[in-house]
Amino acid sequence: MTRPIIVTIHKKALRHNFQVVRKAAGGRAVWAVVKANAYGHGLRNAVEAFSEADGLALLEVSEAVRARECGWTKRILLLEGFFSQKELPEIEQHEVETIVHSAWMIDVLKRNAPFKNLRCHIKINTGMNRLGFRPEEYQAVVRELSAIAGVTVCGAVTHFANAEPTYTKGGPATFEKQLDRMSSIGSTQGEKCLANSAATLFHPEVGGDAVRAGVILYGASPDSNISERELHVRPAMTFSAKIIAIQNIQAGDAVGYGSRWIASRPSRIAVVACGYADGYPRSMPNGAPTWVEGKIAPLVGATSMDMLEIDVTDVPEATVGSIVELWGEHIPVNQVAKLCGTIGYELLCALAPRVNVRVDEE
Ligand SMILES: *Cc1c(COP(=O)(O)O)cnc(C)c1O
Repeated sequence: MTRPIIVTIHKKALRHNFQVVRKAAGGRAVWAVVKANAYGHGLRNAVEAFSEADGLALLEVSEAVRARECGWTKRILLLEGFFSQKELPEIEQHEVETIVHSAWMIDVLKRNAPFKNLRCHIKINTGMNRLGFRPEEYQAVVRELSAIAGVTVCGAVTHFANAEPTYTKGGPATFEKQLDRMSSIGSTQGEKCLANSAATLFHPEVGGDAVRAGVILYGASPDSNISERELHVRPAMTFSAKIIAIQNIQAGDAVGYGSRWIASRPSRIAVVACGYADGYPRSMPNGAPTWVEGKIAPLVGATSMDMLEIDVTDVPEATVGSIVELWGEHIPVNQVAKLCGTIGYELLCALAPRVNVRVDEE
């Protein structure tokens, strides 16, 4: 028998969200970011639902090959570029484009030239201080790369640390400062691609020729203080599990490891077939909302590896076999993520491989 825990991926929501991005992008090309198994939604589902995207952006060459095997014939971009020269033949074979973010990568390209046609996008570090060349290095990098036989410089990219409206407004890496530094590189060769989901939605002024949208495609707001409803996107993932047991307990009785929750009244406690080994964080506090039989039921006690408990005293309809939504349409993933000090992104892509996935084609 299969465990009664299931993730449902809603293809229709993915398609709808893509259209929201398409509109927000204006005339710009859209890279659908499908890293981390499409933020937990499954690469194949993403490939199918984002068929109108201009390209896919992801992390590993192996995932690029998998996208090709799923039938993706359009562009693919490696967001962190290659990690070793061993990957270069496959990159060329599958016509994958790569970011170049560091001098060591230029050296590797020089040593492995000539190429048939290796398309490179130069990453600029405009203040996030993760990957990229300094703005003043850009023109020299263009010259160096262009001099390598078979290398085409086809773009310039940067990444914002604070494009979310409720993120820091001051400090060394404000959105405006990063945008200014990007402008300082002068004329760019090929297409310019600056915007992530937040910048695509909230900062049309960044312009450029393409956007890289990730989390918003999956129906989660990039800014957890702004609701999905306001952004007109729909959650594409419903994470749910069934109630497998009910305990009727007395006031003063405890639930779960460490007795983190103690009943203040006689309570009906439902045991749900989902634990931290499935991707529901152990750090989720008492009171975190779940949705069962049309009502909110609070989490009680620490999530265990394979189970968690909710208080259904006020949901008499809840019984063994009832489906409990942990996040999805009724419980926004950002809302529960915030309760345990993280963001929806982390919960979405932390889903464990042991969880069954069902695809809702409509
Ligand atoms: C993940 C990623 C994105 C997408 O970010 P979202 O906030 O999910 O839209 C864009 N660009 C780069 C370089 C990334 O790593």
